[in-house]
Amino acid sequence: MAGDSLSAVICVCFLVALQVTSGANIGHFWHVTDFHYDHTYWSEQLSCNDDVPQPGVFGDYWCDSPWRLVTDAIEAMTHIRSDVDFLVWTGDTVAHIHDDHLSVNINMDIMQNLTTAITKAFPNKTVYATFGGYYTRLTASGLRIVALNTNLYYTSDRQTPGHPDPAGQFQWFRTTMERANSTGEKVIVIAHIPPGLHTPRGTLWFQTEFVQPFNSILTQFAHNIVGMHFGHDHHDGFKIFYDAQVTPWRYKLPGQVGVPHNPAIRLVTFDRDTGRHLDIQQYYLDLPASNKQDQAGAETTANFTLLFTTAAAEQEGTAKVCNKTCKARILCGFKHYTMADFDACVSQQCDDTCPNSGAIVGK
Ligand SMILES: [Zn+2]
Ligand SMILES: [Zn+2]
Repeated sequence: MAGDSLSAVICVCFLVALQVTSGANIGHFWHVTDFHYDHTYWSEQLSCNDDVPQPGVFGDYWCDSPWRLVTDAIEAMTHIRSDVDFLVWTGDTVAHIHDDHLSVNINMDIMQNLTTAITKAFPNKTVYATFGGYYTRLTASGLRIVALNTNLYYTSDRQTPGHPDPAGQFQWFRTTMERANSTGEKVIVIAHIPPGLHTPRGTLWFQTEFVQPFNSILTQFAHNIVGMHFGHDHHDGFKIFYDAQVTPWRYKLPGQVGVPHNPAIRLVTFDRDTGRHLDIQQYYLDLPASNKQDQAGAETTANFTLLFTTAAAEQEGTAKVCNKTCKARILCGFKHYTMADFDACVSQQCDDTCPNSGAIVGK
């Protein structure tokens, strides 16, 4: 049933997009995130969650990205559409490697390498990145980008709990939105950590105390905000009040191999006059197929596939692993942002027929 609902949502979005594109002043931007470049992929494989005896040239679903996957994704973007208005880049550039094996210098090198690769591929295009701090800029077509540092509200941040407004960001966000509202600007909000929970696991991303102040600004200025784009989640998702989130690779359910849930790059089509998002195209790389091609000596072109054309196949795959509890958790994750609200929603949806949460991934 969850699959049917998802299908309906996608179809509706697509029909709306078709209806409003004619005559509109169409623009595009790329949203990229969570490259997670593992510089040890060909040596210690420090990012890999399991043994990978035969690492593929393009990577493995158990690991973060080898450089080849990073550059291939960027190259694919230039082939798909190089003439974009701008790019949005929402962080997580280094690998999931313990701090003992990283240093500021290594991280800076990785950031530099990625920055160079992206700016070389998209010369003269503005990249709006979220690497700490907050700022706002106007795009050439007059859309306001508001970049936030939502890492301040992350459940893993030990410094910020108890502070009513870490780094004064809520105050700045509200003031910025008030100004945008007074001049009638449309706003795209970008940040790394998304509000709400990661589903179906139910991992909370925002500290509960920061949910209400954040959501109240969004609600107050919802008429100005045309889109919100986050990273970090490592799977595709939608929330009730924001547009979309994305990220690439290294997300895997136990026991599942090769399910194509490694979206990496997303092309957003929007109306330059209103900022309205008309369509989102999600691309991902089929790692096993690409790796196999390379081993067979074939052309090593990346096999990128449009998500919407494979949505049915993907849902079929999801249906095998997402039981009733899992579906309830995904649906509740669309609209609830605290653990208490989320749990209440799940138990309401679930009744006694749901397997317990320890078995959310079933057959
Ligand atoms: Zn990440
Ligand atoms: Zn992250």
